[in-house]
Amino acid sequence: MAEDLLKSLDSAQARCVAHPPDSALQILAGPGSGKTKVLTSRIAYMIMHHGMEPSSICAVTFTNKAANEMRARLIKLVGKERVDKVKMGTFHSICVLFLRKYGRVLGLDGNFTICDSEESKRIVSKLLKPHSDLLASENISLNETTLRSMISRAKSKGQTPEDVMPHKESRLGKAGSSRAAPRNPTDDVSQHVFAEIYRDYEKFLQQSNGLDFDDLLVFGVRLFSQHPKYAAWCQHILVDEFQDTNAVQYELLCSIAAVSRCATVVGDPDQSIYGWRSADVENLAKMQNDFPNVVQIMLEQNYRSAGSIIAASVAIISQDKSRIAKTLHTSHSLGPRPMLRAFSTEHDEAAFIAWEINRMIAQSGGMLGFGDFAVLLRFNAISRTIENALQKERIPNRILGGHQFFERAEIKDILAYLQLVDNPSFEPAFSRAINIPARGIGGKSLGEILARAQKLNISPLSVVERIHDSKIPDLKPPVKRKVQSFVNVIRSLRSLATDGTEPAQLIGMLVELIDYQEHLKKVQTDWNTRWENVQELINFASDATVDTSNIPVVGGDESPLQNTPLRQFLQASVLSSEGDQSKENDDEKVAIATCHSAKGLEWPVVFIPAVESGTFPFSRADDIEEERRLLYVACTRAQTLLYLTHSSKRKVAGESKSRDLSEFIAPIYSQHPPLFTDMPHTLSRQDLSLIATILSRVKRMPDELDVKRRMAMFNLSARQIQLSDSNVNQKTETLHALPPVQRDTPPDYVP
Ligand code: ATP
Ligand code: MG
Repeated sequence: MAEDLLKSLDSAQARCVAHPPDSALQILAGPGSGKTKVLTSRIAYMIMHHGMEPSSICAVTFTNKAANEMRARLIKLVGKERVDKVKMGTFHSICVLFLRKYGRVLGLDGNFTICDSEESKRIVSKLLKPHSDLLASENISLNETTLRSMISRAKSKGQTPEDVMPHKESRLGKAGSSRAAPRNPTDDVSQHVFAEIYRDYEKFLQQSNGLDFDDLLVFGVRLFSQHPKYAAWCQHILVDEFQDTNAVQYELLCSIAAVSRCATVVGDPDQSIYGWRSADVENLAKMQNDFPNVVQIMLEQNYRSAGSIIAASVAIISQDKSRIAKTLHTSHSLGPRPMLRAFSTEHDEAAFIAWEINRMIAQSGGMLGFGDFAVLLRFNAISRTIENALQKERIPNRILGGHQFFERAEIKDILAYLQLVDNPSFEPAFSRAINIPARGIGGKSLGEILARAQKLNISPLSVVERIHDSKIPDLKPPVKRKVQSFVNVIRSLRSLATDGTEPAQLIGMLVELIDYQEHLKKVQTDWNTRWENVQELINFASDATVDTSNIPVVGGDESPLQNTPLRQFLQASVLSSEGDQSKENDDEKVAIATCHSAKGLEWPVVFIPAVESGTFPFSRADDIEEERRLLYVACTRAQTLLYLTHSSKRKVAGESKSRDLSEFIAPIYSQHPPLFTDMPHTLSRQDLSLIATILSRVKRMPDELDVKRRMAMFNLSARQIQLSDSNVNQKTETLHALPPVQRDTPPDYVP
């Protein structure tokens, strides 16, 4: 069985998988070369061939979605029981599990609430207000977005508020600011304001018993490095997308691997696209020093894309002269050349995309379905026009990484109540929930409640719970009555949660208790869609469980607080990445995604609109090379057809502006032989058979396993299994109906 695993791989891949598990390994390779596949196979091989205990393996992915996909693939290889024991997830989610259980040794309460980035921004915005006059008088513009990322950067470098105070500047070098010396007084003022806000932000989080995303990592490092016994379980840690890890994540890797010194990382420096979030590709070099005898293996064969897509992608990335050139062969024939097409307006461009999707589906003879197409955007603002055009043509679509589901107001409202039940100290949830639905508790009354909470050093919720207490501000009787109704709701929910009521049921009760549907009808014109989202949240709640049973018990230090179903649900919702709450049938829709969130994924057909100056590179981006890599990442998602489009005019912030073809494409556009075509594709039989070959290789084939077992294993309904099988069968039939592949280029086309 373990040997069969190696047979499905090429020799370089097999070498990676079979590399001794008691050592450190770096796999460096281009897109589509099977890095993620190798990582998954290596875990299976460690378990099956080397007999390693699954619970001693830690697998880190970039998103939760990627972790779920890896889990599903591993289940097929080694079975669910063993996969459940593997510690798998993002760096963040792995830290949360351990901090809930052992954070006590660092002074954390086990019921901390995780602040998402929007919430963090709102806190910063509140703390910024008292400084606004000073900043205005100095003519300094500092907004909550900038400050939030300055705080995040400081945390990821391990700097405390004290460290970033201006007087520390000379000692620390470049605290918080990338601007060059010499400094001027204005810089000092803004640095000072930043340090104060950072300090107040930390204090606020502490009082609210909240941790932001950066804290999860910072405390994780602290836990594992100060108390190595909590990492002693780890014999091997594997990290996907290693090029996008930042300094703290690297420290985390080192501290989890401190005992075993064994790690496997896979990455591609050409795909490093998170420099703006302090990711550091130098971690690859650092690892050479920190881990003894690191072996490097390169993979050079691309299994994902047709030859001409690789050729165009390589031509784009090769313009970066500072990059280390890599070899990338493709196992597929050339296929149709990527199309590069100019339009007069963004509306024409969007209409073309919609039209072309329908045309390709028709021309592929049923081989391609809507789920085989993706439109990848540099940023979300472009998506409206595309969505409209697809809707006009009745093309079903879904947005990955758009306005995230868990950031929607109606979802936040519900979560605020639940967070408050779980963690009464969490002020952001209190301030939101108290007036949902409107209870007429004005800003002044709310301010008094918050101030009193500060003074008595108790939570605002405790203040309203003790509203009849003499120490509590003398609110007017109608206000007291309104506050009382809020307290009653929280009390009912709390007693239900304590009795172990499932989160889905809790939400059902909550929306009735506060008559949330009526509230939506009153305040939102699109209340219907919002109400559907609430139902979707209930669905998500009935599925979401974060299993903590595989966290080792170390010396009786664990928190006495139970990891309740409610807490697990809240955790899953805040840590979920885009598309995690995807609905049934999502696989049959055109995906609209940002290039960033498309990382690691693949689709048969990919459109990249707005390949123009101002978008690629994005006018506000600092690092041109990172922008180029982003375009490279986007292009290399395509398996069989790639379309780049641009428009000579585009509305930017309400104003129509003329646009030129992207500087990343212009120099290679007239290259000979041409890399692009502007003619609509007419798929030849050869093209169709190439598409069929690629699809048949990557689509999940009907399992030999019987339907019942698969339903249980993959948590699917009988209908979903049936649908998926008929989809695959249909594609396989089309494949068989086609003539054998006639290659028009040698199989190992070298761009
Ligand atoms: P990226 O850099 O974009 O994350 P990757 O290197 O992780 O890409 P994978 O996603 O693992 O690449 O693989 C790309 C595609 O190639 C997948 O569909 C995978 O199933 C397929 N593939 C990888 N190796 C092989 C192989 N040896 N034989 C057939 N198909 C393969
Ligand atoms: Mg990958």
